Amino acid sequence: MSYVFNDGFPSDHEAKAGILEVGRRMYAKNFVASNDGNISCKVSDNTVWCTPTGVSKGYMTDEMLVLMDLEGNVLRGTFKPSSEMKMHLRVYKENPGVKAVVHAHPPVATSFAIAGIPLNRAILTEAVMGIGEIPIAPYAMPGTQEVPDSIAPFVCTHNGCLLANHGALTWGNDVMEAWMRMESVEYYATVSMYTAGIIGQANELTCAQVDRLIERRTNSGITTGGRPHCSDCKDAASSTCSGSCGAACTGACGKDKKIAGTYSMSLQDRKDVEEVINIVKMVLAERGR
Ligand SMILES: [Zn+2]
Repeated sequence: MSYVFNDGFPSDHEAKAGILEVGRRMYAKNFVASNDGNISCKVSDNTVWCTPTGVSKGYMTDEMLVLMDLEGNVLRGTFKPSSEMKMHLRVYKENPGVKAVVHAHPPVATSFAIAGIPLNRAILTEAVMGIGEIPIAPYAMPGTQEVPDSIAPFVCTHNGCLLANHGALTWGNDVMEAWMRMESVEYYATVSMYTAGIIGQANELTCAQVDRLIERRTNSGITTGGRPHCSDCKDAASSTCSGSCGAACTGACGKDKKIAGTYSMSLQDRKDVEEVINIVKMVLAERGR
């Protein structure tokens, strides 16, 4: 069974099989807890198969899936679609080229979404080429119109986004591509966490290196993904980038300086963290007595 559909739309059977497979992978990788997460896949310009609410995505069967039109009307199926489908339908409306959407709560990417830190540093070659930068959609009340409105600005320019205090959303040309991007977002977040919070250092790629990676991304047919911050952006003394990307980084560098600063720990920061760890150890030892 192939889940990749570069031309046209998948059949109903192929779309449903792809959704069930992604659901199993999502649950097996702990990207969702309980009945969380949702997956959808387009089968025509105006119809999309999607996952139901109130069901573990790791144990779905064919008859649980729901066929909807892009207005949100249920055309086939007896289960209730997730309220988060509004977010999926908005992706399809904003960018008609998208054929599948995946939403999950992978723990590390979700932690970045809670911390308000976008995944926008050029530290990982595969991430620059494959998914690009991952911005954060502002906080939105679940189930309301605020949610689709919050993600709309990124749908035509990026391959996914974090949802503030909630989780992550990715989209693609087929259901497996949308899922692979979700895996890549979590991997990018995990490496960012290790380098920033545990190792305490990450060497960013230079403007010239990022240029070459983005050129390769474009040559592979991916025209979305934005431009993550390079080392020249971070080191710029003012809001003007000193690297070759110039205008592309200007502004973003200045705006995110505070965020960039939180990534590298000073010696004092490390001492503070050690002190906190020692206090926690003492408290735990007290309780153990
Ligand atoms: Zn969610």
